[in-house]
Amino acid sequence: MRVAVVGAGIMGLSTAWALARSGATVTVLDQGSIPNPLGSSCDRHRLIRYPYGASAGYARRVEEAYRAWDILWKDLGQSYYRPTGTLALEGARAGWTTDSRDTLDLLGVPHSVLSRHEVSRRFPYLRCDDVEWALYLESGGALLAQGILTALRQDLDSRGVTLRSQTQVVELDPASPSLRLGTGERLEADRIVVAAGPWTGELVTQPPLPVQPSRQVVVYIEPPPELRDTWRHTPMILDVGSASGFYSVPDVDGHGPKIGDHTFSLTGAPSQERDPTDAEGQAVFQLCANRLVDFERYRLREARSCFYTVHADERFIIQERDKAWILAGFSGHGFKFGAAMGLATADVILGHRDPEGLALWAAGDEQQPARIPPPDSTN
Ligand SMILES: Cc1cc2nc3c(=O)[nH]c(=O)nc-3n(C[C@H](O)[C@H](O)[C@H](O)COP(=O)(O)OP(=O)(O)OC[C@H]3O[C@@H](n4cnc5c(N)ncnc54)[C@H](O)[C@@H]3O)c2cc1C
Repeated sequence: MRVAVVGAGIMGLSTAWALARSGATVTVLDQGSIPNPLGSSCDRHRLIRYPYGASAGYARRVEEAYRAWDILWKDLGQSYYRPTGTLALEGARAGWTTDSRDTLDLLGVPHSVLSRHEVSRRFPYLRCDDVEWALYLESGGALLAQGILTALRQDLDSRGVTLRSQTQVVELDPASPSLRLGTGERLEADRIVVAAGPWTGELVTQPPLPVQPSRQVVVYIEPPPELRDTWRHTPMILDVGSASGFYSVPDVDGHGPKIGDHTFSLTGAPSQERDPTDAEGQAVFQLCANRLVDFERYRLREARSCFYTVHADERFIIQERDKAWILAGFSGHGFKFGAAMGLATADVILGHRDPEGLALWAAGDEQQPARIPPPDSTN
C-alpha cells in the first residue's frame, strides 16, 4: 500500500514509522525542513505524566504511550526518555490536582500525597504558603522531542521512506486520493494521512475541523548557582489552577529549566510573529515569581514561541474522510501519545484493526480498550 503523509511533526513521523515497519510504501511531505522548527513538536522536550485531572481516558492511555515509546526506542537503538518524577501542587480550592488524585486512585497508579510541610522539606526552593498538599509520583519524565524527530527522520530514511522537505501541500482530494503540491505536481497514493498541526485549518477546509491555533510562549531560565544541581534533580512541577498556572521542566540534558504557561492564548497564526517580545517572555517568567524562593536571583535566559492546536475539550481528533485520515487537535498534550497514535493509526489504515473505536480511543473515551498491547500479548 502507498501512503502519503502530510506533516513531519511527531504525529506524521510516528505514523510513517509505524506504516513503514509494517511494509507500506510511504512518502512524507513537509512544507519546512524535517523536523520543522516552527512545528508544535519541535522543542527540546515534552512531558509525559500520569496525572490528567478528571480525564481517566487519557490517564489510562499513558501506560500505552510508554509501551509505544519502548517499541520506538528499540527500533532507534536508544531511549530519548529522561525520568524526572512528577509533583502537582494543590491550593485551598480543590481543582485539577484533586481530580488527578481521584483518577489515579481509580486506576491504581502509584502516587503519594504530601502535606505542605513535606513539600517544603523535600523541595525547599519552593514557596509553599498557599499550598495545601501535593501529589507526588516517581513516574513521569521528559521526552527529548527534537532528538526523537531527528532520529525518526534517520530511521525512516534507512527504511526507504521518501522524505520531501520544503514541499507544501496545497490541496487534498481524499476521494481519488491525491495531493496537489505547491509546485503544481499531483501526488497519488492509496491512502493519505494529514497531520498538519496548527496549519490544519489551512488544508482541511471541507468541512473544517473544530480546532484553533494557539500561540504559546515558553521560557528557559537560569537558577542561582547554588541551585543549579537541584534543578537537575527536581521533578516536573505542575502548578495549575483551573484558569491559570505554570508547569516547569527540570534541567534535562543540560538544556536548563523550562517554564510554560498553563493557559491557552487562542490567538496567532503559526507562520507569523514567531519571535516572542521581551514583555511576553517576562510575563511567563513572572508566573513562577511567587512559587520560587529567591525568585529575584533567577534569570530569564531565552523565550520561544510554539503553537498548540486546540480542540475545545482538548480531545484528539482522528477522522476518516474517504481514503484520507486526518489527525488533529492535539492541544497542549499530544506529544506524549505520538508513538501510540502512530502505531494505532497505521494498524487501522493497514486493515489490521477495525477502524471503529480509533476515533473514540484518540478522543480519550474511557470505554475504549487498549490499542497498544502489552509486550507479552499475543494480540
Ligand atoms: C509550548 C508547548 C508545550 C507542549 N508541551 C507538551 C507536553 O509537555 N507534553 C505533551 O504531550 N504535549 C505537549 N505539547 C503538545 C505537543 O507538542 C503537540 O500536541 C504535538 O507536537 C503536535 O504534533 P503534530 O505532529 O500534530 O504537529 P506539528 O509538530 O506542528 O507538525 C505538523 C507539521 O505539518 C507540516 N505542515 C503543515 N501544513 C502543511 C502543508 N500544507 N504541507 C506540508 N506540510 C505541512 C508543518 O510544517 C509541521 O512540520 C506542547 C506544545 C507546545 C506548543
